[in-house]
Amino acid sequence: MRMCDACGIREARVLQRHSGRALCSECFTKDIAERVRREVVRYSMFSPSERLLLALSGGKDSFVLMEVIREIHDISKTGVVTVVEGIEGYNREEDLEWLREGSRAYGIDLHIVTLREFTGYRLDDVVKLSSARGLGVSPCTYCGVLRRRAINYVARLHGYDKVLTAHNLDDEVQTSLMNLLRGDTARLIQNHPLSPTLSRYFVKRVKPLRKVYEWETSVYAYLRDFKFQGAECPYITSRPTLRAELRDYLYEVELSKPGTIMRMLEAVDSYVERVLLGRASQLPELPQCEFCGSPTAYGRRLCATCDLLSRLGILKAIPY
Ligand code: SF4
Ligand code: ZN
Ligand code: ZN
Repeated sequence: MRMCDACGIREARVLQRHSGRALCSECFTKDIAERVRREVVRYSMFSPSERLLLALSGGKDSFVLMEVIREIHDISKTGVVTVVEGIEGYNREEDLEWLREGSRAYGIDLHIVTLREFTGYRLDDVVKLSSARGLGVSPCTYCGVLRRRAINYVARLHGYDKVLTAHNLDDEVQTSLMNLLRGDTARLIQNHPLSPTLSRYFVKRVKPLRKVYEWETSVYAYLRDFKFQGAECPYITSRPTLRAELRDYLYEVELSKPGTIMRMLEAVDSYVERVLLGRASQLPELPQCEFCGSPTAYGRRLCATCDLLSRLGILKAIPY
């Protein structure tokens, strides 16, 4: 029997291949909380006095974020938002149940927003309209843009200082590589935790789990006996192929050389910090959308939401 390399008193249950250590359940979950705490401090993601809004989908990463934040932040300054997209066959009711129970048990405000109430349309309606018009826009694009909008709206409405999402290390490395491959420096900067918020109408988003492997969130959830719904979104196959390909590739690389993707993210971070961030600090405030007033990218007349809605023929001003 191998004993835990950290405490030496309990039996090891998890082999952390990137660090070469075997850890017991307690030391493994403690290690994750400690690494998240360090990342939060390193990049000043939030301060003890700030009110945090956790944007959660209900899966295992959401569970880990909620647990870790409970350990490292004042829970009375924390709220949760979840967006119900309106996708047939992707019943998130059970996922919502633990969010409801957890929020009740910890006394956290839970904001549930449905895309139907927020925009007047369920995601399924939007996808149907889009294919009827032959727009060739992926469901995930609509989903991402509308969800982001709803979350920012809730954060502003209730005066939260930061929005926290549960993206893990694997998500972050895929996103960084996609941006690098496309040569999209603006996105590369935006994705860095120190990137400036370019509009006073945007609540800063941070990703405290960005240095936690996806397998670690699965093991953490399993060790804490978290039961999550395995239902998969039917639109998952329409996700960008580049991301899916990078995911498979990175998995192989990590398998043969544990720790590689952690080092990749650190290398990207350091490149952005040394070379790109300085330029970003001189950028002016983002312009506002001519139709709804929401911030939009430089040089654009309409924001992403209005652009998509107008192409669908259902343009109306959605709050931000
Ligand atoms: Fe939304 Fe795409 Fe995720 Fe489905 S797979 S929930 S459409 S982002
Ligand atoms: Zn231990
Ligand atoms: Zn707009």
